[in-house]
Amino acid sequence: MSSIIDGKKIAKEIETELTAKVGAMESAPRLSVVQIGDDPASASYIKAKANTASRVGIALTHHHLPVDTSVKELENLVDNLNESEDGLIIQLPIPKALEPVLERIKPENDVDGFHSENLGKLVQGISGMVPCTPAGIIELLYRSGNAPEGKHVVVVGRSTIVGTPLSLLLSQKGVDATVTLCHSRTKSLHEHCKKADILVAAVGKANMITKDMVKPGAVIIDVGVNRTSEGLVGDVSHDVRDVASQITPVPGGVGPMTVVMLMSNTVKSALEN
Ligand code: NDP
Repeated sequence: MSSIIDGKKIAKEIETELTAKVGAMESAPRLSVVQIGDDPASASYIKAKANTASRVGIALTHHHLPVDTSVKELENLVDNLNESEDGLIIQLPIPKALEPVLERIKPENDVDGFHSENLGKLVQGISGMVPCTPAGIIELLYRSGNAPEGKHVVVVGRSTIVGTPLSLLLSQKGVDATVTLCHSRTKSLHEHCKKADILVAAVGKANMITKDMVKPGAVIIDVGVNRTSEGLVGDVSHDVRDVASQITPVPGGVGPMTVVMLMSNTVKSALEN
């Protein structure tokens, strides 16, 4: 039976470190979160961010705009917040027509790490804003005694916010994992997964990783968040606990790490800019 990697507890440790850092700063770091429309999941993510920010001592402002906000209106708001804030995020999803405005966020204020300049820096191994979920997974691995060096890590899912940046972080010099990146067109997914020392599931399909896909003793990071009739579940089936050595729960694994890494990026931006 596998043991749990407690993301909530590890996120709390990081929160305590950040609170001390912020306490020593002359003024509170400023973070603005822009929400467009009324997506219920977005509302609950923003609430979690606001609660964590308040505990850390970050001044978070929530800007809630209607779904019919124009490109020009959003551009104006972003331009203003680029000047006044240390960190600025636009909570996804947003209407397709507004997506180009994401690139208008100043890269040094882009605490979500989604701007093409920050992703480019990640490819080149240059310091920049790293996307929060991949950064949180790296912290989770180190702080749970699972340094990725020399390990074979299989990442399932290649999105630009999770799988792809995570595969880049893991293969950077100094982290030194050997990475296999799988996606919906991967042939023999079972065989790839079965070779993983560390298996990361970032797909968004409930219970798609099953026991027969996991090497005995592997470490499992379950990124998936799926709302089902049984409540919130990850991408990893419960029976995987029979063979894995350690596993992150859903909820309480990667989720809290994502939120605390957003705070970490905001503090970094406030200290550097
Ligand atoms: P996307 O939908 O953007 O990407 C999903 C990826 O999974 C794609 O690369 C897709 O492949 C791949 N995929 C789909 N079906 C299969 C399959 N059958 N076999 C192998 N690969 C497959 O999702 P995100 O990356 O944004 O999110 C993934 C999950 O993580 C979601 O449940 C999301 O809610 C959750 N999440 C959780 C966070 C947290 O903090 N806990 C933060 C961010 C996301 P292809 O590219 O070929 O289409």
